[in-house]
Amino acid sequence: MAKDYYNILGVDKNASQDEIKKAFRKMAKKYHPDIAGKAGEEKFKEVNEAFQVLGDKQKRAQYDQPGSRGFGSGDFGGGFTNVNFEDLFRDSGFGDIFNMFSGGGRSGRKGPKSGSDLRYDLDIDLEQVFSGLTTKIEIPVHVACKACKGTGSKDGVLKTCDACGGTGEVKKVQRTPFGQTVFITTCSKCKGLGKMISEKCEKCNGTGRIKENKKIEIKIPEGVDEDSYLRVAGQGEAGYNGGPTGDLYVVLHIKPHKIFERKGSDLYCNITINLSKAIFGGEIEVPTIEGTAKLKLPKGTQSHTIFRLRGQGLPGTHSHKRGDELVKILVEIPKNLSGKHEESLKEIFGDDIKITKGFFDKVKDFVS
Ligand SMILES: [Zn+2]
Ligand SMILES: [Zn+2]
Repeated sequence: MAKDYYNILGVDKNASQDEIKKAFRKMAKKYHPDIAGKAGEEKFKEVNEAFQVLGDKQKRAQYDQPGSRGFGSGDFGGGFTNVNFEDLFRDSGFGDIFNMFSGGGRSGRKGPKSGSDLRYDLDIDLEQVFSGLTTKIEIPVHVACKACKGTGSKDGVLKTCDACGGTGEVKKVQRTPFGQTVFITTCSKCKGLGKMISEKCEKCNGTGRIKENKKIEIKIPEGVDEDSYLRVAGQGEAGYNGGPTGDLYVVLHIKPHKIFERKGSDLYCNITINLSKAIFGGEIEVPTIEGTAKLKLPKGTQSHTIFRLRGQGLPGTHSHKRGDELVKILVEIPKNLSGKHEESLKEIFGDDIKITKGFFDKVKDFVS
């Protein structure tokens, strides 16, 4: 069972982004390990996970789609690390509480930064929508440097910053006419990390990240829609200073098909028959997404009649129940008849015309 993120945050399904943010703050404050201790840890993770999805408009929209919970595998799971606490709590007064509980030190918290999310656009054809697809994509991406384990330091070990003694901050005392004022600023030597590289890693030039072409296997379920996307957790850019890796979003585009048009899980095509087939009827072979199927035309089939082939459409993303194929029959009227044929046709059909109303009527009856 997928988790109900709304329930976890204690908000209504129609809650605004603002309300969600507020609810998250309240919960995070309550369950933060610095406050609630070990007991709050699980709940804190859960609350974070919920906010990761609901706090992001795009992710929330996908989560809200019926049946979308559990799309792909573990798409929304895990990863509670890239919430930017400083941003969230800056205007809530929580920053002060945070400092109080962590003894005033802010060391380390400035350092790790999560890597960027990546987007990859993938074109697939309708047959692949029908069958689902497992494929490998190659993306140029920054990954953590293996030689230094992402630290940027040659031996993989960081030493304590000698300018700030590892706190990441330096105090400056300034004398003013009213007395002494103490300013606390970020240590410029270690940029607030409290740690420094003693010797740069040669492989990554001390950045801790290297660019490489990464091959990633992705699994696309059957029946996907245009512009739907897969989130591949942890396959984005490497983080900085030990921060978490971003995610990869694979956006799917479906190539136009030479025969079929698609609406939801139904497929549509036109088939042109000649006049005698329309008059005498009979069995014809029609294309399907898998091959062909037989369709029996009744005698006197009119042009623009639509036949429904049940269960010959695409599978649904979630239900696997297949849609239908709708075949519109077009009757080709011969343009050049010999004089002999012309005469006999006139003899059979006469030259009456019939005038009726209903120009704008939609085709109502499907024959199945
Ligand atoms: Zn420092
Ligand atoms: Zn390196």
